[in-house]
Amino acid sequence: MVDLEFPYHPEIALYIHIPFCTSRCRYCNFYFETGWSPRVMERTLDGIVHEARSYVENGLLDATSLRTIYLGGGTPSTIPPALFDRFLTNLFQVLSGPRSLEEFCIEVNPESVTTELLEVLSSHDVDRISLGIQTFDTDFLHLLGRRATGSIIDTSLETLATHWPGELNLDFITGIPGQTPTQVIKDLRRALTWNPQHFSLYSLTVEEKTPLEQLTRLGPTHGGVNPVSQGMYEDDWLTGRDFLKSRGYDHYEISNFARPGMESAHNRRYWNLRPYLGLGPGAVSTLWTHQGPVRLTNPSIFAYSPPSKPWNSYQRTIENPSPREWLSDLLLTSTRTREGIGQSIVDSDLARVSGLDPWSLITLAIQETLDPGWTQSAPDFWALEDDSRMIQDNYLVSLELAIDKIVQRTNTELAYQRLTGGESDRKLKSIR
Ligand code: SF4
Repeated sequence: MVDLEFPYHPEIALYIHIPFCTSRCRYCNFYFETGWSPRVMERTLDGIVHEARSYVENGLLDATSLRTIYLGGGTPSTIPPALFDRFLTNLFQVLSGPRSLEEFCIEVNPESVTTELLEVLSSHDVDRISLGIQTFDTDFLHLLGRRATGSIIDTSLETLATHWPGELNLDFITGIPGQTPTQVIKDLRRALTWNPQHFSLYSLTVEEKTPLEQLTRLGPTHGGVNPVSQGMYEDDWLTGRDFLKSRGYDHYEISNFARPGMESAHNRRYWNLRPYLGLGPGAVSTLWTHQGPVRLTNPSIFAYSPPSKPWNSYQRTIENPSPREWLSDLLLTSTRTREGIGQSIVDSDLARVSGLDPWSLITLAIQETLDPGWTQSAPDFWALEDDSRMIQDNYLVSLELAIDKIVQRTNTELAYQRLTGGESDRKLKSIR
């Protein structure tokens, strides 16, 4: 039973969360499990197929609605190839029918690249692999708690070059304690010899309660590491950014670079808050009801696939963001991209449920902030210029304040109520 009613969405970005990792990387705060048994893995994959079936049987999902599929984690490639084949076969029996996918991507770690795995992925029409390299430097990989070494990564890239006909994204991290800009360039140069279509370049964040945080707290004299200064973080990342741009990769999102036309279609939908369905333990969905947006979060593996309970007996966490909260979320994700926030999206989604004219509101608020750095990337798009995107937080704080001031000034007690979750009607009200 799907525990919420929402209309059929003609276009869905499907995310499948595979929550298994072989061990814990020291910097990671994603949701994943280690120490699982093959039985738990199999049961969880069956649970994901079952969850897909329950959406299909309720008329909320079908193959024709799928635009992108992304398998992330965790480490999806920890699934043995034969089990992966069984999982994807079962999934597409449930989601049978013609598909017009823009992209089918899977995250893979270098140590699990095998010809068997690549054959299984190709046979199910996966067309993009996102390879989690992070760095070629074995000492840094060890510090990060990654399982691969530089030579394992080289071998995985050779296997991909000879057995993978699809697209390739390579994932890198900068700002590793002890790393220098020269080492960042060395990593990226080595990666470029494989001519990937896409790079993701993240600055390492030392998250609370991770083993890496403990190491930085201990410091080198007690067996830990020196924390990285803000200046070093910036130097490492900016050096990497400039290098990739100089090699023809378009910096189209804060952390992402692509050859022309090779941007991530799945992430693009996510950044624009397009309908997004998550399957699997811990997966999040953002969908629309007739009243407005809704966010669903699946429970962790213990409630998702317990052996003693019927499938789908768990409850999803349900949140109903107000149109105002949804606007903030959209600004946060869409202004990460070079394209920015588009009129068609705010008009089609937000105007319908808020009864307001959100495009005029955003345009006026941007003009009133007097912040340089905003640009119209197209007549109906507001975006941050490349360098301004690096300090996106500052821009968004002043934009949010301007939006609230305008709404209050134009009165709009009623309008404000609508925007913050009060009653809504379909009549558009101009902000000017
Ligand atoms: S492989 Fe990925 S998800 Fe798993 S622990 Fe490492 S960083 Fe986290």
